[in-house]
Amino acid sequence: MRSDRLQTLRDKVSAPLRDRAWVEIDLAALTHNVRQLRHFLSPQTELMAVVKADAYGHGAITVAQTVCEAGASWLGVATIPEGIQLREAGIEAPILILGASNTPEQVQAIAHWNLQPTLCTPQQALVFSETLGIENRSLSVHVKLDTGMSRLGTIWQQAAEFVQLVQRLPHLKIASIYSHLATADSPDPTVMRQQHERFEEAIAFIEATGIKGPKLHLANSAAALTDRSLHYDMVRVGLATYGLYPAPHLKAINLKPVMQVKARITQVKDIASGTGVSYGYQFIASENMRLAVVGIGYADGIPRNLSNKMQVLIRGQLVPQVGAITMDQLMLDVSAIPDLQTGEVVTLLGKQGEFQISADDWAATLGTISWEILCGFKHRLPRVAVGEALEISDQAASS
Ligand SMILES: *Cc1c(COP(=O)(O)O)cnc(C)c1O
Repeated sequence: MRSDRLQTLRDKVSAPLRDRAWVEIDLAALTHNVRQLRHFLSPQTELMAVVKADAYGHGAITVAQTVCEAGASWLGVATIPEGIQLREAGIEAPILILGASNTPEQVQAIAHWNLQPTLCTPQQALVFSETLGIENRSLSVHVKLDTGMSRLGTIWQQAAEFVQLVQRLPHLKIASIYSHLATADSPDPTVMRQQHERFEEAIAFIEATGIKGPKLHLANSAAALTDRSLHYDMVRVGLATYGLYPAPHLKAINLKPVMQVKARITQVKDIASGTGVSYGYQFIASENMRLAVVGIGYADGIPRNLSNKMQVLIRGQLVPQVGAITMDQLMLDVSAIPDLQTGEVVTLLGKQGEFQISADDWAATLGTISWEILCGFKHRLPRVAVGEALEISDQAASS
């Protein structure tokens, strides 16, 4: 198809995506973040972009393609289906499954789709070795140590024994040994230092048994932004890839939020003083006011607990949300913008002019973390790529 016709087609199919409510993914910001991270790391340290949970809600395929172009050399996912999705989209970067796998079917799928598993226990290692033996194929595996997170992995005191067992089993090649930090985003480094020491100790014991060569990695976003001694051969960066800081004291590099959440005004109306708004009348107008209805609600991932506690951006102005947020719609007090029109765009998360509403703001109001906010947007909201998206899809269309 000719490129001008492709352009028209793309415009036609994209327009309805911005009909009601959508999530914008800024590929230029994503590229910027990966380049900033890459620049911050020493050249020998590889960057794994963690794209689990549909790339923290940003859309795994587009994100994976973009971060690999920008300098990430590994991808991390939580589940096997997440890995398969990337392979079926033609992504060739090495993919580590961060979750555990226990069944022969899981082993077969991992081998078939050229994914790389995390091994946490001797039982898992045996299942992998035996299942791979049937087809006489081998696999790169990653050994997980628990240095204090108390989640997946063999406890660090038994690291050397476990690694020796994996090393001796046929069909398994140890590609890396890793652990995960529990408190890397805390201003108090005590626990992180203890985990770091345990990791060092475990590695020393492993090397004393003659096993050298597997990559080592320990750092998530917070640790990657903390101290180069935590970087080892690779860092596993999720949150920072998406332009958010794990904690306010960790702003070592400049990051730009990748996600914006937008929706359209569907109706504007005037209500009299004393009128109740939305379910339960959690808001009652204290004077005559102008209301706007917006086509986005908690079924799209706007937390209902933000009702009467959030602001949005319209025409570069902060506007308060009023009344209970409903499943598909919410209301705004737009008295300050009397000529507001149906169809105008509201920014719920993102930037307009000098104002920025970030996932950190919502997280603070809700008593949660930005990770959960990003992962909370539902699939009813189309993900629309902006920024360098057109260049990338042009290349894809012409190749
Ligand atoms: C999710 C995850 C990461 C990424 O964490 P961020 O804090 O988002 O950078 C790294 N390593 C493991 C094992 C994870 O599960």
